[in-house]
Amino acid sequence: MIPDHEFEKIEGVPGPTKQEIRCLVMCKAQISSDDVVLDVGCGTGGLTVEFSQRVKKVFAVDKNPQAVEVTLQNLKKFNPSGDVELFKNDALSVMENLPPLDVLVIGGSSGDLTPIIKRGHEILKKGGRIIVTAILLETRSTSVSILKELEMKPEIVEVSVARGKVLNSGTMMKANNPVAIITGYKNFN
Ligand code: SAH
Repeated sequence: MIPDHEFEKIEGVPGPTKQEIRCLVMCKAQISSDDVVLDVGCGTGGLTVEFSQRVKKVFAVDKNPQAVEVTLQNLKKFNPSGDVELFKNDALSVMENLPPLDVLVIGGSSGDLTPIIKRGHEILKKGGRIIVTAILLETRSTSVSILKELEMKPEIVEVSVARGKVLNSGTMMKANNPVAIITGYKNFN
């Protein structure tokens, strides 16, 4: 997994998703090399890049043109030959015309979380996964209730990562904000 500081950044564009969280997302997504993935709200491209190095095909969308620009820069830096299609658009518009997905990961939705999950469920293959990374309390509860409604057996983990900063006097642990990772499985018994 790529260290956070190696990503190109544009001021005002969120991300990259912290390295430890990226690990958990990959783990919960149960990715395999044949997977087709959609990253909704690609931001700085943290997750888009990591997925692109591990799966067959990645679609990524962000409504912020600067996010698409910096994601492109990071793809050039870390995986120039990866099969990635980037869209500068609203997630729901892009989701009208996509092939069946193995994984849908949602890192931003700005009010459209429910329709994005519902549309995602429609275009997800049998056995497919939806993963939401949530900073807001409301995102956690909406994700769980919609995934439950769709009979996707939601699972939620919340992690609080603290990283050690090594100083002359010792190592100071510095806390990051807690993040929840909500996962749903389609037709999974
Ligand atoms: N996972 C990313 C960070 C995500 S930040 C990384 O690792 O870098 C969330 C992003 O979601 C923001 O860039 C925001 O512009 C985007 N976003 C929010 N709502 C959206 C929507 N409805 N459609 C497309 N992009 C959206």
